[in-house]
Amino acid sequence: MDTEKTKCLIIGSGPAGYTAAIYASRANHSPILYEGLQPGGQLTTTSEVENFPGYPNGVMGAQLMEELRQQAVRFGADCRPGIIGEVDFSKRPFRCTTLDGDVIEASTVIVATGASAKYLGLPDEQRFSGMGVSACATCDGFFYRNRVVAVVGGGDTACEEAYYLSTLAKKVYLIVRKDYLRASHVMRQRVMDKENIEVLFNTNTTGLFGNEFLEGAHLVEYAGTDKERHFDIDIDGFFLAIGHKPNTDIFKGQLTLDESGYIVLFNNTQATNVPGVFAAGDVADSRYQQAVAAAGSGCRAALDADKFLMENE
Ligand code: NDP
Repeated sequence: MDTEKTKCLIIGSGPAGYTAAIYASRANHSPILYEGLQPGGQLTTTSEVENFPGYPNGVMGAQLMEELRQQAVRFGADCRPGIIGEVDFSKRPFRCTTLDGDVIEASTVIVATGASAKYLGLPDEQRFSGMGVSACATCDGFFYRNRVVAVVGGGDTACEEAYYLSTLAKKVYLIVRKDYLRASHVMRQRVMDKENIEVLFNTNTTGLFGNEFLEGAHLVEYAGTDKERHFDIDIDGFFLAIGHKPNTDIFKGQLTLDESGYIVLFNNTQATNVPGVFAAGDVADSRYQQAVAAAGSGCRAALDADKFLMENE
């Protein structure tokens, strides 16, 4: 078990974490960044990112993240694989322990652990995980070429995933629990105009079926009304796109979280309730959840950490 000291520990490697690392290393704080379970974060599982400024022709999510990482490393950030499994924010320096048992003593911490896809909570989702159930169309869509799939959700993610899958699969059902899509106008239009996407409004999934692999889903339309109708669809793939849950489990009891588990920020800065601990990106942003917003907040968190170090060390 090693113990290392750093002026700035960054937990998480999405646009927020890497941007914080660029700023903290340029401020001479030699940050250590732990990349976490999904190095590069959620964007590594997206296809093309069309709305990150500076890329007029779009950029692949994985490429964007690799370039952000290289930019951080160029200025001296120590970006390493590994997961912080435990933190002690009760006194400074903060003690953070990796799953391998290594201990980092950090004068400041920037939490940029992002958010993870939500599941419906059906027991069958676990049963068919990797056998037809997925929360990432761009990771797994390839396996469904010329097959029939369903996407659950009515937001931008669901529309993006349905559209992407429609370019591979024979047919895509989009299962939407309300009678409208909450996605942005451009995504709604793209989905509604695509002839191999069928949108099932007012519909919920009650179960999945199949033997070894997924073969279909049990659905209910207009549940709880006099129009309630139960029916099945035959599908090979079932993709969840119903939003995200912030990755804050290890901070419970130490950082102030809101009722959905997002980190609460104070004083119009990236400061948490613990002086010296800052948060950036989706883990502290239930509202915007955009890569560029995450990058911006990573910059702010690093500047806040820099100011804190100047005033306190
Ligand atoms: P959202 O929270 O926007 O949408 C979640 C969707 O899932 C909603 O339609 C919601 O239904 C539905 N849903 C939630 N729980 C259930 C459930 N238990 N059963 C069935 N349906 C359910 O999440 P997104 O991931 O789509 O987007 C998050 C943010 O990221 C948004 O701000 C979005 O604009 C942004 N985004 C932007 C993109 C871009 O600009 N390129 C791409 C992807 C996301 P209901 O409407 O009934 O609540």
